[in-house]
Amino acid sequence: MVDSGTIRTTCPYCGVGCGVLATPQQNGHVSIEGDPGHPANYGRLCSKGNALGETLGLDGRLLYPEVDGKTVGWDQALDHVAHKLNTTIQKHGPDSVGFYLSGQMLTEDYYIANKLMKGFIGSANVDTNSRLCMSSTVAGHKRAFGADTVPGNYEDLEHADLVVLVGSNMTWCHPVLFQRLMAAKEQRPGLNIVVIDPRRTKTAELANLHLPIKPDGDVALFNGLLQRIVASQMVDTNYVGDHTTGFAAAVNATQISQKELIKQTGLSAAQLDEFYSLFVNTEKVVTCFSQGVNQSTSGTDKVNAIINCHLATGRIGRKGMGPFSLTGQPNAMGGREVGGLANMLAAHMDMENQEHRTLVQEFWGAPNLAPKPGLKAVELFRALKTGKIKALWIMGTNPMVSLPETENVAKALANCPTVIVSDIMADTATSQFATVKLPALGWGEKSGTVTNSERRVSRQRAFLPAPGEARPDWWHVAEVGKKMGFVDAFSFKSAAEIFAEHAALSGHKNDGKRDFDIGAYADVSEAAYDALSPFQWPQPKNAEPSITRFFANGSFYTKDKRANFVPTRLQSQTKPGRGKQVLNTGRVRDHWHTMTRTGKSPTLSGHIAEPYCEIARSDASRLGIESADLVLLRSGRTEIILRALISDKIQTGHVFAPMHWSSNLSSLTSVNAMVKADLDPHSGQPALKSGRVTLERARMA
Ligand code: SF4
Repeated sequence: MVDSGTIRTTCPYCGVGCGVLATPQQNGHVSIEGDPGHPANYGRLCSKGNALGETLGLDGRLLYPEVDGKTVGWDQALDHVAHKLNTTIQKHGPDSVGFYLSGQMLTEDYYIANKLMKGFIGSANVDTNSRLCMSSTVAGHKRAFGADTVPGNYEDLEHADLVVLVGSNMTWCHPVLFQRLMAAKEQRPGLNIVVIDPRRTKTAELANLHLPIKPDGDVALFNGLLQRIVASQMVDTNYVGDHTTGFAAAVNATQISQKELIKQTGLSAAQLDEFYSLFVNTEKVVTCFSQGVNQSTSGTDKVNAIINCHLATGRIGRKGMGPFSLTGQPNAMGGREVGGLANMLAAHMDMENQEHRTLVQEFWGAPNLAPKPGLKAVELFRALKTGKIKALWIMGTNPMVSLPETENVAKALANCPTVIVSDIMADTATSQFATVKLPALGWGEKSGTVTNSERRVSRQRAFLPAPGEARPDWWHVAEVGKKMGFVDAFSFKSAAEIFAEHAALSGHKNDGKRDFDIGAYADVSEAAYDALSPFQWPQPKNAEPSITRFFANGSFYTKDKRANFVPTRLQSQTKPGRGKQVLNTGRVRDHWHTMTRTGKSPTLSGHIAEPYCEIARSDASRLGIESADLVLLRSGRTEIILRALISDKIQTGHVFAPMHWSSNLSSLTSVNAMVKADLDPHSGQPALKSGRVTLERARMA
């Protein structure tokens, strides 16, 4: 029970998905506490969650629809959008239109945007900023398991005897999950934590073992581990024989000499031996991975190299064991469930599977199901630049700051005749290119569901009135869908109705057979939806509890029900080039994405107040840079000036800079602008952690 006047909701930041109790006060403030009843956090919150009440002011908000810079009524704005989309499609075909969505959107918003684009407009050019976050994991899961299925739970970290964190600064980026892990370690000091990260992050400092790997040395590291598992005769031959396929080919692909392994990983023989011995000799191992794995040209292979080691030892689908990806955004997982990526259909179904296509088409009554996968995020903006896309709808994201090669994103947006932006903020780096602005609801105003990293669905609930004329994202899409002529398919009156449709479709999946008679919540009432308690997705009807652990029976979603070992290639590690540094971009503890919300909080700004560039002491002394000097980073024609932070925690030849700020000391340039958009060939995810820049002390006039 909570006090009357207190609303149970979910934190809008990271993929941990903590439950929050929000209590509006008479003085207009909102007090925030962690929800003790929420199974993601049991009452804990991190600094960002605790400061949510400071981020709710209306300054800078977009309150009324605008067309061509003029404030208009909703009817006029929606007519304009529907007309522009219809005429563009008539003239240039469905693929001349694109949607670019966000892991900040609620599941219901995501579902309806995908339905309009893939089912009714007839193009799959709908992608999301989650492409930048975890699409390599999606591709790796599909290759190994036959579907994008997450095998683990948070609880598994507490039951493990060894937790390996690969490319994850969990202390800062998934703080409450790290708090849970440290609490478990306090109770069981024998629980070992290994951190694999080129930087000595806060997480690495708290680990039993830190492996300061070379960037992109992960495939070599885990291929070497698979070799060691074989050499130590620790392969679970029964599991491999009964539940997997392709073991011999994967092992053959791992052939690498010790000398080459040391060269590829940058680790010593002793460091490799310590890690391999720990992994091989510990039964309960969870391997968590995050952006250091995903944001790479070999991201998908890294994911599969990790999964291969868990399959070889049979350490998957069991309590305290398994590979476990940590999603960055609050609803990256919900987006995956409703097919929020350009190469997926709703309910985890495949664009290229005819049975799935027929099922979705019939369920939606879709006249025009997209015939093929669409363009992924970076490709979508490239098509905008060349004029193939002529109308783009961007919802809840700021690609001018978050995408790589910002110079090209700016050219692409300037080149697009119709740019529709649904956002809560009036002026963002992206919305300066908008021909139409649609005011959306923010956290505390909107209502729907999100799914966290362990597939737990929680409600976000409104506790503040809608400001001005702002409306939910799902409503923007539904109204445009109706005005485009698809009245029956988009006559939703509430988020609950959309959730029920998503649940019904999810109950009809998996190779034409029905996994579940029909998904739970397919007939959820408004009252029941309002009262939803957190649960793990999917949930079969009339079954308690929901599915908490996949693959417990050794059955996977491939045709033969066996998991695939995937042979993984070694990344040839390119040197940065003469005079260049490797640029690693990432997050700080107290800011979120492009800071449209966390930037409002004085408490959060007190942690790190300005953008910076972390530089190795050896590089700083070679270049005559002193602590707090201003330094100039240059990549092609893009430059940025940042404050120098000289450190012993970063490798020589590398620099680290946070991606949050777009207004820095020199100009409106984001750090991601400096990164060339090299993509993983399987997932299309850009390598945001291995840019190439020159570095020098800035000379001020
Ligand atoms: Fe919010 Fe993530 Fe912090 Fe939890 S850990 S309070 S979800 S930012």
